[in-house]
Amino acid sequence: TTPHKWNFGAGPAMIPRPVLLRAQAEFLNYNDTGLSLMELSHRSAPYEQLNNHAQQQLRTLLNIPSNYKIIFMQGGGHTQFAAVVYNLLAWRHHKNAHQGDWKDIPVDYIVTGAWSAKAVEEAKRLGANVRVVCDAKKALGGYKGIPAESTWLTSDPAGELRTQDAANNRQPAYLYYCDNETVNGVEFPFVPSMHNADVPIVCDMSSNILSRPVDVSKFGVIYAGAQKNIGPAGVSVVIVREDLLHTSEGEHGLLPVPLMLDYKTMAKNNSLYNTPPMFAIYISSLVFEWLLDAQAQKVQDGEAYFVGEKVGVEAAAARNERKAGKLYKALEESKIYRIVVEDKAARSKMNVPFRISATHKDDPNGVVDKKRDEAIEAEFVAQAEAQGLLQLAGHRSVGGIRASIYNAMTEEGVDVLVKFLQEFAKQY
Ligand code: PMP
Repeated sequence: TTPHKWNFGAGPAMIPRPVLLRAQAEFLNYNDTGLSLMELSHRSAPYEQLNNHAQQQLRTLLNIPSNYKIIFMQGGGHTQFAAVVYNLLAWRHHKNAHQGDWKDIPVDYIVTGAWSAKAVEEAKRLGANVRVVCDAKKALGGYKGIPAESTWLTSDPAGELRTQDAANNRQPAYLYYCDNETVNGVEFPFVPSMHNADVPIVCDMSSNILSRPVDVSKFGVIYAGAQKNIGPAGVSVVIVREDLLHTSEGEHGLLPVPLMLDYKTMAKNNSLYNTPPMFAIYISSLVFEWLLDAQAQKVQDGEAYFVGEKVGVEAAAARNERKAGKLYKALEESKIYRIVVEDKAARSKMNVPFRISATHKDDPNGVVDKKRDEAIEAEFVAQAEAQGLLQLAGHRSVGGIRASIYNAMTEEGVDVLVKFLQEFAKQY
């Protein structure tokens, strides 16, 4: 047997072993059809059942109210950066019976890391009137936390306008943010509420969905690419409030929504408008089941899963708190590790980026040798890998180390990592 590996990759990320084993067992014969799931028609009864079941499981897990549609889409998180712009500008334009140019309608973004910054870029590319109401990099000199909510309006040059928005019929189409910045390790400990209820909140939860309970009713749209906490790449989950569904056909010069990006078309067709990514949805459904069912969480392959514990998202959240707590504590206790996110309240429970700075300790004047520190980080990743702790290198845009500890990562895995961190530090 191969030695056990621990996967700390940010995504595609670890999938619970019991899910992989179950998929393996069912691979050739899905549900007694005599066919692999991948060979079935997406219009067949077994697939339709799976499609409905997966939605129901997610509805149960996140306690999603009945006035929200759950849709499965393709194209990953990046496609949602665009879909949000098209769909919600169409909705706002229609709702306000807007006669003017759609480019007059503002769209508000909170930027706390690389992914919300990319969402801004896409909205701008499409010609939207983007207002960055909070830019954490500017405010904090880097993506190190979340600037106080009270500063958001004043840091925005158009802030003055906003107070008159409602009167001028210029409410933004939506307020956008990313709940957990996967690259930078910044996670919101609250739901922003800078606008009134008429402005839907759009949230990218790609890397922390299902990691903690969420009050879905506060949101207009929640979306998540699957490949972190849900399942394999290829499917994105979109949870959208029904009253926001409006398809633009290009009226009043509005951008027509491409059908594959159109929430209403997808919802109306129960995510079967075209051929869905069936296998990704199937594995996602198994992950949902694993979260919902204590039996599915039993020990496999010598790994202690979450046997005997409560199931569901609240139970997962308690585990995630414990896991992240242990890891941050170990990092804080050592002199060579530096946690990137300084704002403790905004430290992610899913992605933990840190740097290694050891050289100043050797230098009589305490001078940091950046190049050598980077070499030590490379050494860290190599030694970790040799011990079966995989994919710990930080995102290529920022370097350093990043440990991703999604739902599927066991507490045992975090303990192994903590031990490794302590052993490695002894070398310096
Ligand atoms: N948003 C977040 C929070 C992400 O972590 C990622 C991917 N790591 C994306 C969006 C982009 O997702 P994709 O690669 O599926 O387009």
